Amino acid sequence: MTPDSLPKPEPKAIDEQKMIELKHLTQDAVLKGKPYGDERCNNCLYYADPSDSIQYCWHPKLRILVGEQWWCQWWEPIE
Ligand code: SF4
Repeated sequence: MTPDSLPKPEPKAIDEQKMIELKHLTQDAVLKGKPYGDERCNNCLYYADPSDSIQYCWHPKLRILVGEQWWCQWWEPIE
């Protein structure tokens, strides 16, 4: 089988479902892919490891991976 004869990858029903779920989640959080002034994920209380550029956000309404320069309405300062 040559690479040209392989079926082209296509999203499955589960991808559509996850995309809708994540879209609702990001809309609820007003999640943005850029900082809000000085507020960003890597200086937020809920960002698991500020030394990493992608990390787990443990906010109870999110619990997803986020980027260090992202931001959402639930940002809280690190104590
Ligand atoms: S709560 Fe919001 S700002 Fe804080 S790490 Fe999670 S997504 Fe980023």
